[in-house]
Amino acid sequence: MNPLLKNESPAMDTWAIFGLWVASLKTIAHLVYMGAFQVIPEKFLKRRFARQIKQGKTIWLDDLQFSHSQPDAQQKSFPGNEIADLTPGNNFHPRKSRAVLLDAYPEPKYPFAYRCLPLSGNIINGLGENQKRPARKVFHSGDYKIAWNGLERYFHAMADKVSANVLRKILWQDRHKSVKANAKRVPIENPEIMSRHVKEAAKQLGADLVGITNLSPEYAFEHFDPIHYPTAISLAVSMDLAGVKYATAEKSTAAIMDGYQRAAFASIELAKRIRALGWSALSASNVGADTAEVLHVPLAVQAGLGQLGKHGSLISKEFGSNLRLATVLTNMPLAHDRPIDIGVDDFCTRCEICMTNCPPQAIFDSKKMVRGIEKWYVNFDRCVPYFVANNSCGICLAVCPWTEPGRGKGISLRMLALREQ
Ligand code: SF4
Ligand code: SF4
Repeated sequence: MNPLLKNESPAMDTWAIFGLWVASLKTIAHLVYMGAFQVIPEKFLKRRFARQIKQGKTIWLDDLQFSHSQPDAQQKSFPGNEIADLTPGNNFHPRKSRAVLLDAYPEPKYPFAYRCLPLSGNIINGLGENQKRPARKVFHSGDYKIAWNGLERYFHAMADKVSANVLRKILWQDRHKSVKANAKRVPIENPEIMSRHVKEAAKQLGADLVGITNLSPEYAFEHFDPIHYPTAISLAVSMDLAGVKYATAEKSTAAIMDGYQRAAFASIELAKRIRALGWSALSASNVGADTAEVLHVPLAVQAGLGQLGKHGSLISKEFGSNLRLATVLTNMPLAHDRPIDIGVDDFCTRCEICMTNCPPQAIFDSKKMVRGIEKWYVNFDRCVPYFVANNSCGICLAVCPWTEPGRGKGISLRMLALREQ
């Protein structure tokens, strides 16, 4: 019997139900507030931006920030004062890979700019730092109080209807986040068996890949204290590849947002069922009320779902890079998985497909030292403006050879065999 499966999972106790009611009321209030002070003003902003773009006028991102003091404060807390350079590389090719179905990639020219450029996202991310430290939010913060908030505000204002609806849906699901675990704790006698139950339940909830690992402090954002959650359950869902291949069109955003929503659903529901057994569990999805407690990609690598690719995303044998991730954090005693070696490093060292297809040329050819770890890294200052201007981009995921259905296993076998020679 698996106590995490739908019909076997215990019901929420009275306090948990009470907590859910309180959280639901808070979320309704938040959604009403968002509607009045964010969604409606953003509709006007969107119209204004469309007019400005038509007239060829620059949209000044500095004018969109809610607070000017916060970015300054953030800037001062970093040594040096390297400002962002949003200029794309000068080797743009409009058409390269057949894996992308659009006729040509949009040029890396943006209708927006900063008068006063923020601190480089690469510096905030810790590029060139030799010491391990928790990550700091740069973008997708949800609070608009950081250096790059002008660009994020533009991103939200220009979001299509599908993305906005998905974000609201996840926000509503996310009310479960603050609900406490049932008071009566079900003892776990065998963590190995419970891990198998967790994986079975996660797959039933829509996850395509599941792995379990420890939550290392360097993989938590600095505002989040990981002490109560020693274990991370990493979930990956595959996206609709037919949609992803239309990067950078709205069709591709719809596929990406659908992936986010299914990953968020799986993590929220799994956390709910773990809490029903009396153990703490927090769903950390990429979108929601309080986004980004942890870095999903390194946790997925550590949990054995795949390896980091040159394009900065996870590569799995089964789905290549066509994945969205979410994580459940818990104190439930579970057996941990190990990282795997499927030959991604060997392949990425010789391959340049994502680099040459990336319109702003944001992908570095060699590994970089980032917060004490040498790894593949993407130039934040070049990638994010293109991502914002072009429906969340995603070209690098679509063109990666591992993403082509059925190729990953073969590539992996070949790479590992080459090592033996
Ligand atoms: S496109 Fe090539 S270099 Fe880029 S991540 Fe995929 S395998 Fe690695
Ligand atoms: S999402 Fe990938 S392809 Fe698009 S700009 Fe960023 S790194 Fe380049």
